[in-house]
Amino acid sequence: MPGFEFFGDEERHQVNEVLGTGILMRYGFDAGRKGIWKALELEQAITQTFGCTHAQLVSSGTAALTTALQSLGIGYGDEVIMPCFTFVASFEAVISVGATPVLVEIDDTLTLDPAAVRAAITDRTKCIMPVHMCGGMAEMDTLQAICGEHGLALLEDACQSIGGSYKGKCLGTIGNAGTFSFDFVKTLTCAEGGVVMTNQKELFIKADAYSDHGHDHKGVDRGADLHPFLGYNFRISELHAAVGVAQIRKLDRFLAIQRKNHSILKEELASIPGITFRRIPDPAGDSCTFLSWFLPSEDLTRSSVAEMKESGILGGQFYWFDNNWHYIRKWDHLKTAMTLGHLHPDHREAIIRNVNASFPGSDAIMGRCISTAISLLWTEEQIRDKGKAMKAAVLKAMGKS
Ligand SMILES: *Cc1c(COP(=O)(O)O)cnc(C)c1O
Repeated sequence: MPGFEFFGDEERHQVNEVLGTGILMRYGFDAGRKGIWKALELEQAITQTFGCTHAQLVSSGTAALTTALQSLGIGYGDEVIMPCFTFVASFEAVISVGATPVLVEIDDTLTLDPAAVRAAITDRTKCIMPVHMCGGMAEMDTLQAICGEHGLALLEDACQSIGGSYKGKCLGTIGNAGTFSFDFVKTLTCAEGGVVMTNQKELFIKADAYSDHGHDHKGVDRGADLHPFLGYNFRISELHAAVGVAQIRKLDRFLAIQRKNHSILKEELASIPGITFRRIPDPAGDSCTFLSWFLPSEDLTRSSVAEMKESGILGGQFYWFDNNWHYIRKWDHLKTAMTLGHLHPDHREAIIRNVNASFPGSDAIMGRCISTAISLLWTEEQIRDKGKAMKAAVLKAMGKS
């Protein structure tokens, strides 16, 4: 799954080049940097690798989402439709720009249910934010069509699906804007980092300035830059970007290993009675960071999780239904809008109103879902052993239930 599994000499070499000059900042200091511009180099590699015209690196995936929302002009009074299965960063970013996250049901793709999206559209909706969870993807054609019909922005949170694609286009490059995270557990890592990708130059110009205090970056003298609007500091450092420069060169290798390991594990699990697998709208584009599978009932899933825990093979396997980070059920801090400072009362009321719905369809899916993280380091023998042990645990749970 994550690039940190393949950290090595290439990353060290890239970081050492930056340490050799001492210029750790991505902007300015031209004289001392000896032609080394790691953030720029990584941005160029991203546009080439994923096929978009513009990429703006920032300090995290959360910062990338925030920067993209700002660049799309989303703020107070606006609603952003997003899935109830995601990572907390997705709604943190929406709330941080003053907008309201509207959580809706997911389907067996583990991403936005297009019918739920349609039903949630109001005259305040500005943006649809699919989250391509666990290496797979949302139904992009349908979501794009909905955005077209209603004049909405499409912002892809592709933080978990680096290298995945949908009908030949890389995830994160299909909507008006898309984001990756390069945090330590993502397919490519910079330790911390993120990127906003877009094919719209005006969005890129905004993202570029917003993520560096609103600097217009038009001249050679930072001190003389103008500030067309208020910005923020979400800059990535040269040290972080350097790690990414080494990592992105390994992406094809990571994806090939992930896909191979994923298919071996799937083959082992396929004979479990009643098992089904997550629906992938474009199977060829699955980045295969996880294998997500369903058992016929929540009870059996819970007892299988317990059996796998008992036999010591639950590590790297996730029962999201009980997870604090990824599913609505445990987000009490969101449901009560528990912020440190005061939110505007209208904003607070809108958040609470829009996240306290019930999600019976999603509960019925997530209660039966287990996601197994695909390691890059497994041998074929280890995968087959793991698969057999997982199957044995489920069969044991079946005997008991
Ligand atoms: C990791 C992740 C993010 C945020 O990334 P950070 O770099 O950790 O801020 C956003 N959305 C999803 C779905 C993620 O998995």
